[in-house]
Amino acid sequence: MRIDILTLFPEMCETVMSESIIGRARKAEKVQVVCTNIRDFAGNKHNKVDDTPYGGGMGMIMAASPIYNCYKSLYNEGEPKPHLIYLSPKGKTFNQQKAIELSKLDRVVLLCGHYEGIDQRVIEEIVDEEISIGDFVLTGGELPALTVADAIFRMLPGVLSDDICFEEESHFSPFLEYPQYTRPAVWMGKEVPEVLLSGNHQKIADWRRIKSILETKEKRPDMFSLDNLSKKDLKLLKKHNIEL
Ligand code: SAM
Repeated sequence: MRIDILTLFPEMCETVMSESIIGRARKAEKVQVVCTNIRDFAGNKHNKVDDTPYGGGMGMIMAASPIYNCYKSLYNEGEPKPHLIYLSPKGKTFNQQKAIELSKLDRVVLLCGHYEGIDQRVIEEIVDEEISIGDFVLTGGELPALTVADAIFRMLPGVLSDDICFEEESHFSPFLEYPQYTRPAVWMGKEVPEVLLSGNHQKIADWRRIKSILETKEKRPDMFSLDNLSKKDLKLLKKHNIEL
């Protein structure tokens, strides 16, 4: 899969996308990232890409033409138009389901705004959807774009060491992940739950499932619903005398 990031700060995006798991996946050619500088499409001798807002007001607005020309440079006439997402605080809030949905596309383009945002006309002309990473405002779309790209890429085969890595994680299913521990077995007087040292795989799986259910109920009551419990879950909870 290929993700294009259209930005005024390509080095920032390139740096993040070259590190750790995503960096390794790029080297192994499991995923492709291309960061393109919108300023290269300014089309004027001062490379100016922004201007003051019509009607007055604070800050600068990114002009339509550099963004339009930057996007158009990504594909040839007659080729399918790559799906373009504008990262915007006005967009629909991003979540795991959306990451899974986008990971099924061959190509996604992420458009980062800056300053006070971008000219509405280019949004209407080329943007397929607007995505927000939460109800707050950042200085630019780069961190949201990197967040979205990371979440999409880790859904792809071969990016993580094992697909089980994400299947048991928070938000993949309606339950949060169970608590995790590593060596030493005792730290600051706190012991790792005994069952995890038992070597009994069934008991460990049961303990993890119960913890997942309880953590979700406690930490994210908004996500928790008894309807998401299977017959097996109900049996397990009963066996351990747990009432929800
Ligand atoms: N004036 C805009 C408004 O009130 O909706 C905010 C512009 S913001 C300062 C600059 C850019 O940051 C936006 O164009 C967008 O690309 C990005 N951005 C800021 N907050 C975001 C969020 N929560 N999710 C996604 N993108 C965001």
